Parts: sequence; structure tokens; C-alpha cells
Amino acid sequence: MTERIYNFSAGPAILPVPVLEEAQRDMLSLPGVGMSVMEISHRSTTFDEIFHRADAGLRELLGVPDNYHVLFLQGGASLQFSMVPMNFLPAEGSADYILTGSWGKKALKEAKRAGATNVAATMADGGFTRIPGTDELKLDPKAAYVHITTNETIEGVEWKKEPGVGEVPLVVDASSDILSHPIPIDKYALIYAGAQKNMGPSGVTLVILRDDLLQRIPDGLHTMLDYRTHVDNKSLYNTPNTWGIYILSLVCKWLKDKGGLEAMHRENEAKAQLIYDAIDSTDFYRGHADADSRSIMNVTFRLPSEELEKKFTSEATAQGMVGLKGHRSVGGIRASIYNAFPLAGVEVLVAFMKEFEKKIG
Ligand SMILES: *Cc1c(COP(=O)(O)O)cnc(C)c1O
Repeated sequence: MTERIYNFSAGPAILPVPVLEEAQRDMLSLPGVGMSVMEISHRSTTFDEIFHRADAGLRELLGVPDNYHVLFLQGGASLQFSMVPMNFLPAEGSADYILTGSWGKKALKEAKRAGATNVAATMADGGFTRIPGTDELKLDPKAAYVHITTNETIEGVEWKKEPGVGEVPLVVDASSDILSHPIPIDKYALIYAGAQKNMGPSGVTLVILRDDLLQRIPDGLHTMLDYRTHVDNKSLYNTPNTWGIYILSLVCKWLKDKGGLEAMHRENEAKAQLIYDAIDSTDFYRGHADADSRSIMNVTFRLPSEELEKKFTSEATAQGMVGLKGHRSVGGIRASIYNAFPLAGVEVLVAFMKEFEKKIG
């Protein structure tokens, strides 16, 4: 098969075609190098330039202030669930977690192993369909930090604006919405994200960390689990995922050519709106998230029965649309429409939804 199909997968997810083309072109030999990026030293000048392009690209796109470190780590967002509390939850302290979905729950589970936690709000009772209002947050003013998940990939629920947490450091898992819209970095103490949703291949974890936080890290942590190791060694303490960082550098260039994150945000909103409009125009489809909490990256919805959902995904697959089956924990349909997902593919899905309803309903 040489034709590309529409990939609605939640992650690893679709990558921009120009990025794949450039990587393919330079696969056997980086221009002027005679070797692929996977075959060169991570301490070579060639890799140093690639690394710099990824670092500078992200700093420019996201507007990262100088007092923040940009790190490329491994272990996925899942290892950050542990590293955050190991580094920033002191023995005598407590950390606040706001739960808006499955990934936040997993983050909390690891924090509990490290110390005391307070669930400042959980939307579990309603089936994680919305973001809590300010009046629903039981924040501890003495918390070591507040943890949120800006976009819950499984439920399709997204914070539209970060919660006000005063002077308490705000930590965020932004795995599935990083680079989908501009974010006020200075409102956060630490931002982490696995690359495989919206930035590149799996195997790289981006961490953006405010410098003053380093002073809070206790001594005695394992070397690889201490953020200071990675800051001091500029993410090269051990061998990084050179291929992943390379692809990330190409994705940054692609985003810049597209006009940056403001332009990307407009495109993402327009794409998501097309599907939400299709959902809202009928009773046949039911959106999972409340209107004001809807994700622009992962659109989740149900059909009248599980049987119809099965039929929907299998017919969609036959028409070249894959990855639409919702996560096993919530069921239904999930259309992940990250930055690289084309508007044309969204239009094909919406036409299919209308057609399917007409046929069945
Ligand atoms: C996918 C995902 C994770 C897990 O990422 P890994 O890189 O597989 O550890 C964590 N949080 C969110 C919000 C995700 O979407």
C-alpha cells in the first residue's frame, strides 16, 4: 500500500507528511554527513545542531522564557507521573491533584507512593465529562504543587484556561495538547508531554521546567530520576532518543512554516468545530464532554448502541479512516485530530457520519 489513509489514532499518531518526506529523503545520509541521524554520536556537532534546532524551535513556538529549562527525556509522560512527586513532594508536604480523566488518575496513583496528596477536585462521578469551576476546587494554599492534565486524551476533556493557584507551583501533563495552541508558559512551574501525540514519535518526553524549582529537589534521588542531572547535562547525561529529537526538530520547522501556534490553534478549532457541529445537529450522536470542556484534539462521542459503534468503526475503516474506536475504558468513538491531521480528513469523517446516520437512523 502506498496511499496514506486517514489516521485518527490517539497516539502514536499522525505526523506531518512534509516531515516524513524530509526524514525519508535524509534517512540514508544526512546532507553532507554520509550517515543517518541514528548512526551518529549524540555528542557530535551534527547532532548538536539538530538538538539546537529542536530546542530553539520549541522555545520560539511556545515562547519559553529564559528562566525555564527545556529537557528531552525518556520514559514517557508515565515516568513524569513519578519524577514530579519524587522531586517536588517533600516528606512533610502534600500535593494537590485535580482529576479530569484517566491520565490524571494515573498521575495521582504514583504521587501517592511518594507522599501525601489532596484531591482538590475530581470529575469522576460524572464520568469525566467536564472541567471543574473555580468554586469547585478545594485547593490547599500550602500545597507543594498543583497537578492538572490540560487535555484528557481518553475522555476528550480540555482545560480552556489554567486554574488560578496563587503562588503554588502549577504542574501540567500536556501530552495531548502541547503545540495545539499557545500557552502562557509563565503560569506553569513544570510542563511535561510525551512526544507521540502531537510532536513526534514515541520515546521522547518534553519537560519544560522553571529554574527556581531546582532548589526544592531533595538530595539522594537516583541520578536519572533527578531533574538536576538532565539540566546540568543539557539532556545528554545518557544517550537520548536522537531519532525522536530529530523528528521533533522537523515538526517545529513545519509548525513555524504554517504560521506558529496561533495559526495552528485556529485550524484546530475549525476542524474540531466541524465534528462537534455534526454531533450537535442530531440526537443520533451524543458528545461525551460538556460543550465548554470539549477537547479540540480528541473528539469523543457515542452512538445509540455499542453494536452501532462497532459497525461505525468497521465501515469507517473500510473507507480508509482508522483509529476511531474509543479507548477501551470509555468505549464509543474517538476522533483524534492532532495538528498534522488534515482538514480534508475531517470533512470525509463528517460526510461519513451523516451518511451513516441516514442509512441507519
Ligand atoms: C498518552 C498520554 C500519557 C502517557 O504517555 P506515555 O508517553 O505513554 O507514558 C500521559 N498523559 C496523557 C495526557 C496522555 O495523552
